[in-house]
Amino acid sequence: MENLVRENIRQMQPYSSARDEFGDVADIYLDANENPYDNGFNRYPDPYQSELKRKISHLKEIPTRNIFLGNGSDEILDLVFRAFCEPGRDNVMICPPTYGMYKVLADINNVEIKEVPLNKDFSLDLEGIVVSASDYTKLLVLCSPNNPTGKSIPNKELQFLLERLNCIVLVDEAYIDFSDKESATTLLRNYPNLITSQTFSKAWAMAGLRIGMAFADAKIVEVLNRIKPPYNINTLSQEAVLKQTDNVKKYRAGIRKILDQKVFLENELNLFDEVFEVFESDANFLLVKFKNVSRVFNELKNKGIVVRDRSNQLHCEGCLRITIGTEKENKTLIKNLKEIIR
Ligand SMILES: *Cc1c(COP(=O)(O)O)cnc(C)c1O
Repeated sequence: MENLVRENIRQMQPYSSARDEFGDVADIYLDANENPYDNGFNRYPDPYQSELKRKISHLKEIPTRNIFLGNGSDEILDLVFRAFCEPGRDNVMICPPTYGMYKVLADINNVEIKEVPLNKDFSLDLEGIVVSASDYTKLLVLCSPNNPTGKSIPNKELQFLLERLNCIVLVDEAYIDFSDKESATTLLRNYPNLITSQTFSKAWAMAGLRIGMAFADAKIVEVLNRIKPPYNINTLSQEAVLKQTDNVKKYRAGIRKILDQKVFLENELNLFDEVFEVFESDANFLLVKFKNVSRVFNELKNKGIVVRDRSNQLHCEGCLRITIGTEKENKTLIKNLKEIIR
């Protein structure tokens, strides 16, 4: 793993904040140029989010030293690109159709993208990935369940890749809470090059707070800690997630409601002649193939309902990605589709 880290990052001296250098409890803090008058937010947040990590460690049964938190998964992905990929030299493999941010982050960081498309049935081209990897391939980014296809990658396939590749393998599990498949976190113990990322944005219903989680070997966590902005997660977000995660029952009930609604939508959509296929999904959305996708998309928009047009993505011709809404929203969607399609 160490050999995969960029030379400049291996050698750099990380920023050391006032609290890093002091690292103990005191009565009077005059070390960080904070405003001394207490309003609940006058102090800098905990740079390593210790309390929140203990909570997550308990929830996920993963030791705190294997947890890294980012300002959304997007920050985690960006930091992983910057830790391992030398701009203008190294490359990253992705498997389209997949989440658009991977390519954007590669472009921002001037890292070449190698695309190994999914098979027509949205499964991974395992041999294609292995054959495409070169000495300059530092990272493979996979998404499971995948956005926008909804398909999961079996852990057996991940193991196949981890056994054969010498790069970092990042598995983005933003939608794993909706899935009954096993998380890739169970592989962490055996594969020090594996990073699994999850988020509070979807099933936990806290997209507005911007907190993403990465689970990885302690050495990778150490590298990410070296290069992250010192106070990347603000006090309000840390406190709010701590509070919301007390109620695991509510979280589970929320997932159950969405999964029930997914079955409702799937059944209703399959009744339309206009619908070619509703793809099986392990996430909180459905990819749906329509006969006349642009008409359906535009007329839904005219009726005030916005879905994601994915028809320009590889293997997704004619497809809309529809997020599972509330019972009322989903009923309204079906009612409007009936009016549009008749
Ligand atoms: C929604 C989503 C995320 C979540 O990103 P955050 O920055 O944590 O909100 C990550 N990956 C994928 C594929 C997503 O669809």
